[in-house]
Parts: sequence; structure tokens; C-alpha cells
Amino acid sequence: MIYLAFFTKYFFFVKNDLTLDMNALSSILVGFTVIIIVSCQTPREGNLKIENVNVVNVRQGRIIESQDVVIQGNKITSISEYQNTVFGGDVIDGTGKYLIPGLWDMHTHIFSTNIDSLSYRMNLSNKLMIANGVTGFREMGYTIEEAAETFREKVRNRDYLPQRFIYTTQALDGDPPVWNWPDVVKAIQNPQQATAAIDSIMSHTKADFIKVYSVLSPESYMTISAYCQKNDIDFAGHFPVNTPLSAIAQSGIKSLEHGFELIPAYSSRADSLVEDGELSGSEYRTMFGDNHEESANDFFELLRENQVWITPTLTINQGLALFSSSDTLEIEDERKKYVDWKEWQGPPPEAHSYYDEVFNLVKKRIKPAHSAGVGILAGTDIGFSNPFVYDGFSLHEELKMLVEAGLTPTEALKTATLNPAIYINATDSLGTVEENKLADLVILNQNPIEDISHTRNIYGVLSNGNYFDSVTLSNLLAEVEEFYNN
Ligand SMILES: [Zn+2]
Repeated sequence: MIYLAFFTKYFFFVKNDLTLDMNALSSILVGFTVIIIVSCQTPREGNLKIENVNVVNVRQGRIIESQDVVIQGNKITSISEYQNTVFGGDVIDGTGKYLIPGLWDMHTHIFSTNIDSLSYRMNLSNKLMIANGVTGFREMGYTIEEAAETFREKVRNRDYLPQRFIYTTQALDGDPPVWNWPDVVKAIQNPQQATAAIDSIMSHTKADFIKVYSVLSPESYMTISAYCQKNDIDFAGHFPVNTPLSAIAQSGIKSLEHGFELIPAYSSRADSLVEDGELSGSEYRTMFGDNHEESANDFFELLRENQVWITPTLTINQGLALFSSSDTLEIEDERKKYVDWKEWQGPPPEAHSYYDEVFNLVKKRIKPAHSAGVGILAGTDIGFSNPFVYDGFSLHEELKMLVEAGLTPTEALKTATLNPAIYINATDSLGTVEENKLADLVILNQNPIEDISHTRNIYGVLSNGNYFDSVTLSNLLAEVEEFYNN
């Protein structure tokens, strides 16, 4: 059970805050399901032009060469063929550079923090993410709402850098829960408690969605599903391991986290294994060797039809495997200076083969899922004590691994740009570089469609229309480094 416990630890959920950016395009908001563009700070003053830049069309994987992109306030007001004319405002020379939409990390934990002693961490994450072009994130749980609302307030007051986010609140899990943290995990024994828990959460939360977790009973899970669908409440999270996959796929869940479901998906015995409602870690492991593509294809078809996303979080899956096989003290990595790596925790050495196998199986099965039309989201699992996950930096590694897994660079880029915008119902304001959209943008030195690792080579970042040049971005990193030095 320890394996499964470990395994499930990293699996993680919605309702909405409808603070829409004041200057954003008007969105049609319907009940709870609508999104949530966190309003940011005041946009920059005056006009800005990115001149003669290559605009990356992430929808089609095309480069539109030599464009002038004009930003007023926090919006892109025009995109046109480069003309060497006088401009009344600041000009960024985009010659030879590439413009992509701001990136989103769709699986983070930066609000699971004790607001008094650890809020510094939110500030550091904010800097690291912006320095890496991550202008938005989806907070996946163990959330202390006060932390999330503090973050929002600090962004609004310009104490933090402009960044958008959506977040979940308490996770709903079975009893006993995988993580016995009563402040942030609600242990649910039966359907009545499930209904009462959501009623209670919805009576006061400002969060955007509900998170479900691994050991919810099928009865409790299906009650949550019915309640949320009836009341237009978003929910997402770990697949509940004792509920048949076909039922999960049709339950209204918005996303499945970590790709863990891709193990039973390939087993024709999965349903019979969960029948008694007590799937153990060792039984789970017996499915590692199964490779029943027909079962998987049926599942993928249901996911596609029901618009259920998968966030494979290859970064943390790899990090767990690495942690169990190595001495983290010994591993040299430039990025370690930006995180509290001495706090990392993970599985013991004897669990290495388990985690290694999970990582490889999930990675191998992304491409078939993607080819079957299942939407993929880029997420890293930053936060907590998760090993080898680096705020901001790891998003680029996630994209690289998605390409290694078989996606094209354009498809990988979509998982952190257009797909998150679709997920949060915000394609009218985010997700692509187009006129009338919000100016959340990253200027790259090299073409990301040619090689996804070029997303790391950042020239400048715009978040809500505020421009951060390379010097400013370096300074942000230096500030974080200095913090940990002291
Ligand atoms: Zn997580």
C-alpha cells in the first residue's frame, strides 16, 4: 500500500472566481463553469511595439515572418506586416526573434503553504515562473485559500509580478485519505458526506474548482460527479483507483492528473481488479505488464468524446524515479540554486523500479492517447517537497519530454498555450498570438517549432502587457538565488 500511497500522493481539482481582467475582452460568463481569468495588476502605461518579429501560430505550427505587434495597455491591438515607421511608444526590436503566447503550468502547488511562515515561497515561485515565461498556472490542491487570495491581492497591488491562475480548494479523498492533512484534504466516508462536503465548500470558497483524489469510493466519487454536473461545478484530479475507467471518463471530470490512469487503461483486467473496491498497490503493479491496446482505445475514445484532459506531469514522474535511485546531494543541476532542494522527499530506493516503470509507461502512452484525440496539458507539479521539479524551469523540460514522447514541437507547445486556454474557456483572450488578445507573450531567440528546447532561450516576457527584458529576467533569478544563499 505504500507504493500506491506514494504513487497517489502526486495525483491531484473547481468552482470559480469570476474576476475577469478589467481590460480583457468581455467574456460570456455562464454560472460556475465559466472562467476565471484572474485579474492582474494595472497594465503598463503607454504603447509598445514588438517590431519585425516572427509570430508563431501555435494552432497551425506556422511562422508568420516579420510582423509588427502593437500592444496598448494589456492587449494586443494590432498585428501587421513590418513597416519601418515612426511609432509613438516603446519599441522592442524583434528582428530574428520568435513570439509565442505566454506559457501555462497546468499542475502546481504553490498555495499549500502556511501563510505566516512560508508565504515567501509564493513570491519566489512568482519570480521564477515569470523569468521562465510562465504567465499562468493552475493550482492543483492542498490549497490554503488565504494563500491564494493573498497572492491575488499582491499581484493586484504590484507586490508580485503579474500572473494569472485558477485554483482548487480542499481535496476530497476517501477515508482514510492518502494524505492525512485535515486542513486541506477532506476525508469522505460515504455519499452523504460527499454531498455535505461540497455544500460546505461551495458556501464559502472563492476557488475555481473541486479536486478529487485517489481513494474516494466509487459511490462517493459518482455522487460528487452527479452533484458537480447538476450544479455546473468543475472538478478534476486523480483518477479514483477503485472506480471503473469507463465510468470516470463519463463522469464529467475535466482532467486526470499524472497519467496514472494510463496503466489500467491498457489492462483488460482493470475492471475486475477494482470490483471488490480494494485495489492494492501490488495488484496495481500487476497491470504494468499489460498492453491491451483495444481497452486503451475504448478508454481514449470516451475521454475524447467527453473532453477529459490528461496532464501527464512527466516532470514529477521522472523526479520520483530519480529521487529513489540517487543521492540528491550528489546530483549537480544549475537549477538547484533556485529551490529548497534539501526539503525534497520521495520514494525509498526499494521503490525505484516501480516509479521508473510508471514514468516510462506513462511517457510511452501519451502519444497513442494524443493520436486518439485526447487533449494533453503541460503540468509539472511544482511545490511541496516534490523532487527535481523546478518552478518555471521544469515547464520547459515537460515540453521537451512531451516531444520525446512523440508529440511534434507544435503539439507540445499547444499543451502549454492553446490547450490551457481551451481548458479555462478563455480562447477569446489567451492561448494564441492574435489581435485583441491579452498581451501575455514570450519572445524567444530561436524558433520553437524547429526545436522545442528553444522555448528556454528567452529574450523577453510580457505578462498582462508588462514587459520584462532579459536583464530584468536575469535579475529575478539572481534575487531568488540570493534568497537561498542567505
Ligand atoms: Zn500535484
